[in-house]
Formats: sequence, structure tokens, C-alpha cells
Amino acid sequence: MSQKKTVYIGPFIQCKTLTDLDICPNGMIGVDEGGRIAFVLRDERGRKIPEGDGWEDAKIVRIQDHGFFFPGFIDTHIHAPQYPNAGIFGKSTLLDWLNTYTFPLESSFADLATASRIYNRVVARTLSHGTTTACYYATVHVPATNLLADICQTRGQRAFVGRVCMHEMSPEYYRDESVETALRDSKACIEHVRKIDPEFDLVTPIITPRFALSCNTESLAALGKLHRELDLPAQTHISENPRECDLVRDLFPESKSYADVYESAGLLTPKMILAHAIHLTEEETALIRARDAKISHCPASNTALTSGRAKVRKMLNAGLNLGLGTDVSGGYTSSILAEAREAVFVSRHVAMDEGDEAKLSVEEALYLATRGGAKVVGLEDRIGGFEVGKMWDAQMIGLEAVGPETTELDQSAGPVEVFGKETWDDLVAKWVYTGDDRSTTAVWVGGRLVHAKEGFRL
Ligand SMILES: [Zn+2]
Repeated sequence: MSQKKTVYIGPFIQCKTLTDLDICPNGMIGVDEGGRIAFVLRDERGRKIPEGDGWEDAKIVRIQDHGFFFPGFIDTHIHAPQYPNAGIFGKSTLLDWLNTYTFPLESSFADLATASRIYNRVVARTLSHGTTTACYYATVHVPATNLLADICQTRGQRAFVGRVCMHEMSPEYYRDESVETALRDSKACIEHVRKIDPEFDLVTPIITPRFALSCNTESLAALGKLHRELDLPAQTHISENPRECDLVRDLFPESKSYADVYESAGLLTPKMILAHAIHLTEEETALIRARDAKISHCPASNTALTSGRAKVRKMLNAGLNLGLGTDVSGGYTSSILAEAREAVFVSRHVAMDEGDEAKLSVEEALYLATRGGAKVVGLEDRIGGFEVGKMWDAQMIGLEAVGPETTELDQSAGPVEVFGKETWDDLVAKWVYTGDDRSTTAVWVGGRLVHAKEGFRL
């Protein structure tokens, strides 16, 4: 889709490496008609919109007052149909949570009106949180899954959309009839995305065995074959809950480990996204590293369902690639900013047992939320930062400057208050710890404005 050339002027911040932020207080980024970054200027003095190529007529978008541009967030694991249950989990743990809360809700997506209402809402909501790319699990239903792909396309969110495959240990009222129908229906959803987005510019189908216990050796092998034949990404869960791990051991006695169940099925590849990975053994970590499969860390969900504390530092030190996932509705929040905060806090709980090295910094959590996530979804060449050639998947963050005479709250400004003595690093930390969607003024995907706070005018 062609858009007007646009020049974004103001501070921009991105993650340079896992530990370092790149802070440019006076930046200028030019985005071409295809939504690609055409130039990045970092120096205020002598900074001038380049002449020629029509840049002199470009639209200008400036940071007003305080704020900065930041790369869009990447949610590497979210269950779109579970959105109405966000916050509803009581004291359940994984297996009873699935039966009590999740399967009854997901089964209602046989009704397209229900699917439309909820899917429109979850895409709009995650965009408002600055999530420019989301890896969605849908349900078993073909029409509803196709509708989710349509909604992502229409609303402009970069998305991976997976029809969930499940026929074992699932209730009679909500499951695939057989391995054959699971494959047939998954292929139908893949074909639908090919029709609406042939090059997978925005929406990509993703092969989605729910988890080992929902499948069997035969269906996992069939999905592994499909994954490799079509060269499409895949996603599933691994090692989330101790009881689940025990059951996998019982039901797949021929496998050496949980990771080996996926390895044997040909699913452990660089294009596989494994969610949770809390209770991995060292051998499993080494196997996942060797296959270059990716990890989605879901700290809010892991705490909510008392699943455990994932050892993120150990996984990073072992060379695994990690991103963040909200895992709605095991996770209560659809905000990756909140998830970054949870990642930092869970790492502190790990540190209480294992020492300070386990602590994640704000910078590290933001890296997982952007560049780390981009690697997890295989789009590190297109998104996650502000280099020339990348897509303008970005958010404008607004901060409230509290002047010397200001005594009243400005409700429209968002919760991050700047008193004037803060460094840029301080401001980023304040955003991570005290910010929310009220701080997200505007969001772009591929140069297209996909969300704007009320009152924001370009
Ligand atoms: Zn999940």
C-alpha cells in the first residue's frame, strides 16, 4: 500500500544490543511510500530534510512536548480468543485452568459473531498498547481463524495467525475430529492467508499444535512435515507446568524429553516458537540451541498460573533467542510494556534464589520486547529497530512535563510524569515501570497509522 513520504522528527530510542539503549535526543527518520525507513539522521546541527526524491513535500510528524519514538512491540505468544478471560484465572493451574476457563470460551468461536466481536477487540487493544506484531493462537474453527487473519489485515497489525490443532486430552465438545481433519483444516487456513496476503507482507499463517498433550506422535509428525514442506513458522508450548511435564513423560515414553517429542516430530527448527520453557533440563536447552528454535518468555502467565519461574539469564547465557509473550489469558495483560515489567520482577525473584546475575535490566526487557521478539518471529531484517531498510513499525510515546507551577493532574497526558531532572535512561525506566497505553500516543505498522490516542492529530 502506498503512503505519503513522512519525516518523523524528535527523540528516538531503540535497543542497540541486549544491554545497551541507543538514545538519539534529536533525530529525524524518513519513511518512504512503502513504509520503509529511507534515512536516519542523528545530529541536530545541520540536520535538514534531504532535498530531491520528493522529500521536501513529505508529511512531518513531530514529537510534541516530551516523548520519543520507540520500535513497536512484538508479542510472541498470545491467544486471541481468550481475551475476554484476561484477569480471570482464580487459583487454578494449567490443566484445570484449561478445562475451567479456556476450552468453554474457545469453543464459542464456532459462532462468527462472537469471533468478530472478540477478535476486533483484541487486535484494537493490542495495537493501542504498541504491539505492532502479534503471534496469535486462534481456535480449531476455520471460519473464525480466517476472520482473525482478515481483521489483522484490515486493522493493519503484523500478525502470525495459527489455527490450533488439538484432538487428545481435549473435551468432546471442543477438539479436532481426527488427525486428518486437523491437517485439512489447518491447510484451509493457510490457503486463506495466501489469498488475502499472497506474499505474507502483513499476515503469515503459523502451524500450531496446541501442545504435546493435545496431539499424538502421528499428528505431531504430520504437522512437522507440513511445517518443513511449506517452510512456514510453527508455534507450540513446552515445559510450562510440572504436572504437564510428567504427563508428557508418561504419554510419550519413547521420547527422551519434552523437547525430544518435538524433535522427533521434525518440529524443532529455527522457525519454531516454544512458549514458556520453564522446566527445561540442560540437555533440552542444548538441543533447542542446536536446532535454533526460539523461546517466548511469558512471565505474567507463569506467575498467574503458578507455573514456575523461567530462568531467562540461563537461557540467554546458553545462547537461546528469546522474546516476550503476554500469553493472554494465562497472562492477565495484553500489554507487552507490562510484560517487560513482569519479566524484570520475575527475574528478581529468580535472583533471590540464584544470585544477582539473574536480574534482568529494563534495557534487557525492552530488548526482548523488540529486537529479541523480531528474531523469535524470524523478522529481524524487517522490524525491531530503526535502521535504513527496516519497516516503520513504531510507537510514539508521550510523557507529561510537570512545570514548576503545575499542581493539578493532567488526565489526558498519561501517567509518566517528568520533573525535569531525569536523564534519558531515567525516563525510559519511568516509562517501563509507570507507563501504560495512555503513554502510547500513536502507533504505525509499515508506515501506516494504526492507532492514535484520542485528541492526537498528525
Ligand atoms: Zn499459551
